[in-house]
Amino acid sequence: MTSSPLAPAWLSLPADVNDLRSVQWAAGVARSEGGELAVQGIKVSDLAREFGTPLFVLDEDDFRARARGFKEAFDAAFESICGGVDVYYAGKAFLSTEVARWVTAEGLRLDTCSGGEMAVARVAKVPPANLSLHGNNKSVTEIRTALEADLGRIVVDSLDELERVALLARETGKRANVMLRLTPGVHASTHEFIATAHEDQKFGLSMVQLGQDASPATTAVDFALGHPELNLLGLHAHIGSQIFEAEGFALVAQKMLTFMAGIKAAHGIELPELDLGGGYGIAYTEADTPREPALLAAAMAEVVAATAAELGLKVPRISIEPGRAIAGPTTFTLYEAGVRKSVAVETADGTLAPRRYVSVDGGMSDNARPVLYDADYTAVLASRVTESEPIISRVVGKHCESGDIVVRDVYLPEDVAAGDLLAVPGTGAYCWALSSNYNYLGRPAVVAVRNGAARAIIRRETEADLLARDLGA
Ligand SMILES: *Cc1c(COP(=O)(O)O)cnc(C)c1O
Repeated sequence: MTSSPLAPAWLSLPADVNDLRSVQWAAGVARSEGGELAVQGIKVSDLAREFGTPLFVLDEDDFRARARGFKEAFDAAFESICGGVDVYYAGKAFLSTEVARWVTAEGLRLDTCSGGEMAVARVAKVPPANLSLHGNNKSVTEIRTALEADLGRIVVDSLDELERVALLARETGKRANVMLRLTPGVHASTHEFIATAHEDQKFGLSMVQLGQDASPATTAVDFALGHPELNLLGLHAHIGSQIFEAEGFALVAQKMLTFMAGIKAAHGIELPELDLGGGYGIAYTEADTPREPALLAAAMAEVVAATAAELGLKVPRISIEPGRAIAGPTTFTLYEAGVRKSVAVETADGTLAPRRYVSVDGGMSDNARPVLYDADYTAVLASRVTESEPIISRVVGKHCESGDIVVRDVYLPEDVAAGDLLAVPGTGAYCWALSSNYNYLGRPAVVAVRNGAARAIIRRETEADLLARDLGA
């Protein structure tokens, strides 16, 4: 067996097509004695029988360990310079009442970005002081809800919104705890980062001065400090997603601290908090090489301490907002394979090479990321092991779109056939959260496995659910 000319450069021919690369899977996932994939000993065939497919299978112990791991790693690195770090789990990655309870129990706080996410947190009884509200276009109702609930902080995204928060604070008789989200001009991508002077995107307050006026960031700081109904806690920056290196975070910390030194010079005030956002990368495929949180934390702590010392600033209380890195690796999606096809694809040198298409019983409605971001995933045959040869394959969904791809490039065993179960790892973040009812498919259930027992934490949508809001039905 040789590798396929259709395989991308990063994809290697597996020595054993049954192997799992541990970095892509939750800690509790392994092949059981008979060869079937299992989570904490529970076989996928049993999960499929009890809960149906497609199914999000979440290793709750792994989720909690990752949440706790971020908190412990960052606390350890920052303990001596600012007393520790507040870790906000970014709820938009994947949120349910159970998830909100887990992160709270593990000592984390919770980022929300809508009235709906705040409602989940309220039902889960997350202390309001542990909550943060994000968003570039919060509604009056959302801001009022946050103020009335005494939310820990509102991360303000624009001058318009700052005025609106001040008005609503006066109206509700509350003092609003605000952070200002700035755009520091640092974009971190997977393997590199770039710094630009200008920001051409919808989030945050620009730090760039245009013409005679002060920058929106400076104007916002002046406004907040001039309005006693606003309690300006500090500054916030979020520079991207799926970041593997510490450099981008370090650069943004330097820029933000320098800006804080400017505030001190102008107003004689040292803002007490600095949030460096989320974006910590995970391994979707063998091409991805995430860093341990402890390594990133140590690198960031060193830069923060050195920069603050240089600028004569007390180190502010640091917070971070990981989403994907906590939720993503904890979950795989379990699909049942259906139709197979082989197509002949023309290669670069004009010859034809075979590609196998394997259709599954879900698709872009349960994982929109390949369509939205060209995201790559991997897959394995989960219901059994095989001696069969690997063949370059594409896992596709059942939707009426040719772009409905779940896994673009993967070597699957040649003998994968209808009725086999396939598992796609790394689907814990931004998959269920982005799921839709396209083609009137019900959204899958989410099953959490803890202490060797599985339970649904979100049930599957039924046809009755799909018709429930159809007023003509
Ligand atoms: C999306 C987002 C996060 C989380 O990003 P991840 O890549 O999931 O870690 C954190 N903070 C803000 C403001 C975000 O918008």
